[in-house]
Amino acid sequence: MSFIEVEQVGHHYFTPSTATVALEDVSFTIQKGEFISFLGPSGCGKTTMLSILAGLINPTTGKIRIDQQIPDQDANFIGYMLQQDYLFPWKTIEENILLGLKINGRLSSKTKQSALSFLNQIGLKGVNQQKPQQLSGGMRQRAALARTMAVNPKLLLLDEPFSALDYQTKLKLEDLVAEILKAYGKTAILVTHDIGEAISMSDRVFLFSGSPGKIHRIFNIPKELR
Ligand code: ADP
Ligand code: ADP
Repeated sequence: MSFIEVEQVGHHYFTPSTATVALEDVSFTIQKGEFISFLGPSGCGKTTMLSILAGLINPTTGKIRIDQQIPDQDANFIGYMLQQDYLFPWKTIEENILLGLKINGRLSSKTKQSALSFLNQIGLKGVNQQKPQQLSGGMRQRAALARTMAVNPKLLLLDEPFSALDYQTKLKLEDLVAEILKAYGKTAILVTHDIGEAISMSDRVFLFSGSPGKIHRIFNIPKELR
């Protein structure tokens, strides 16, 4: 039994006048601890596939299981990193990072300490009491990573989290995120247009093509290319 199982998934979007086939006959499995990239041009169904995995939309056809469960909107074992950091501007970095634990009713001295020591580990020492707008874009994305990791998700969905950063910051963060997620044994899926990013971060790259969106090929990325 694989950690993620996707079997012949299809998705149609219906509007009063049109039907768009966003995905057709997509099947794959992902093992625990793997880092996967969904690579492909826009419009080939990558975001739709990610939304189905997140339980935000249901597939029109096919079957999906994550850790043997059907994903739904209340799945609190999934963490996100998006293009924008979505930190609350009026809260400090520390408050932002502890918010998820608070909402889930899991804020204790142990989880708090673990979340704050993670801040040090990713180069955010000493910014606990600062507000997001006092930090650079790269540091805010680090804080977004810390917020995501604080709730200890089983699966991370990363939707172009580096695309708003300048080139040098982007390269540094790609390495950091890949290294941290491996160190913690997390399973992650990254959506990207950037082939360099996909290769340098992933164990496997799922190349999407469309329309309708399909997985055209799957590449294993040898360690020496990363
Ligand atoms: P990608 O993430 O690869 O750019 P998407 O999953 O966003 O691809 O889109 C796949 C196809 O589905 C595209 O043709 C897009 O126009 C269409 N689509 C996406 N979202 C919607 C929606 N909410 N309603 C109608 N069509 C949509
Ligand atoms: P699982 O059994 O689901 O893989 P674990 O509880 O074993 O998850 O934790 C996986 C890793 O995440 C461990 O190395 C642990 O130290 C780390 N971890 C757990 N909770 C936190 C947290 N709140 N902040 C940062 N890292 C954490």
